[in-house]
Amino acid sequence: MAQAAHAAARVPTSAIDERIDGALQHLRNPKVQAGVVLGSHARRAMSEFLHGRDFVEIPPVIVAPVTDPLNHPVSDPRVDYYGHDFQLTRSMIFHKQLATLAFEKVFCFSPNLRFEPLDRSGTGRHLVEFTQMDLEVRDAGRDDIMRLVEEMLTSVVSTVRSRAAPILQELGRTLPPISSRLRRVRYEDAQKEFGPSFELELSRRAKEPFWIIDIPLLEREFYDREDPKHPGFLLDMDLIYPEGYGEAISGGEREHELGRILERIRAKGQTPDEFRWYVEAARQGLPPSCGFGIGIERLSRWLGGLRTVEETTLFPKRIGAWSL
Ligand code: AMP
Ligand code: MG
Repeated sequence: MAQAAHAAARVPTSAIDERIDGALQHLRNPKVQAGVVLGSHARRAMSEFLHGRDFVEIPPVIVAPVTDPLNHPVSDPRVDYYGHDFQLTRSMIFHKQLATLAFEKVFCFSPNLRFEPLDRSGTGRHLVEFTQMDLEVRDAGRDDIMRLVEEMLTSVVSTVRSRAAPILQELGRTLPPISSRLRRVRYEDAQKEFGPSFELELSRRAKEPFWIIDIPLLEREFYDREDPKHPGFLLDMDLIYPEGYGEAISGGEREHELGRILERIRAKGQTPDEFRWYVEAARQGLPPSCGFGIGIERLSRWLGGLRTVEETTLFPKRIGAWSL
């Protein structure tokens, strides 16, 4: 395990000093350092895998006129810059879709800011600031992307197993083996059998990652493509970690035709004006595409068998709390 560089004296002189002291203790914590190193290995392994498949890494977008509406409430910080109204990136969903106008295969290590509601604090899975490896492929279908994820995950796990062997040993972590094809569970079947918290129930029982597919339309955002053969359901997929670690990935095919996009925006009770820049791009023509996003902190947490995502980042932004 990585050693702390300095053993510093603790001299809290005020409440603020105590908070800073706590933040400094956090980054000196060997477990946290191990979590960060695992994330660093995971990013490198992912990047090597994707470059090997001719993906182009695009730079992240931090402020933009439009960002992911998400399907759950988060507060909506905006920046006014000389009268231009910018939102802070909640995900690169729209920009990566637009990026497929430039390149067939793109990925990005994208900082996401989500001012999550208080009821998400203490899940061990949510931070206010996190990084998503967000990926999109022009003209790809859901099956293509599910295969890509399976191959990428196998590669990341085996690379981390060998490059980070001493860290995994220090943490007492044995990563479970991964089959080349992961199990697929239909959302409705899982819900019927295990009730509303089916995702965590199934995650606790699972020995390896598995897919949840065919997610009902109302559960997701307007940009996820409805299955033409199965109306009311989306060509979406979530990958769930085993051992109770919960959701790893959300992904899917995208609505790309202007008429469908407008219909889906209105069905959500939203207005095309809220997404003006994206709608204008769709008017000019967007290619079909499919992709996914994987949270780096959740991946590092699972790789290390860590208690919470906070242990995978030096400066965790905790929900509703002060952080450095
Ligand atoms: P979503 O678009 O909400 O499905 O998020 C995509 C992925 O980002 C998820 O599958 C998680 O791995 C990760 N993620 C989402 N929200 C958070 C959060 N608040 N903190 C850490 N990771 C997150
Ligand atoms: Mg999700």
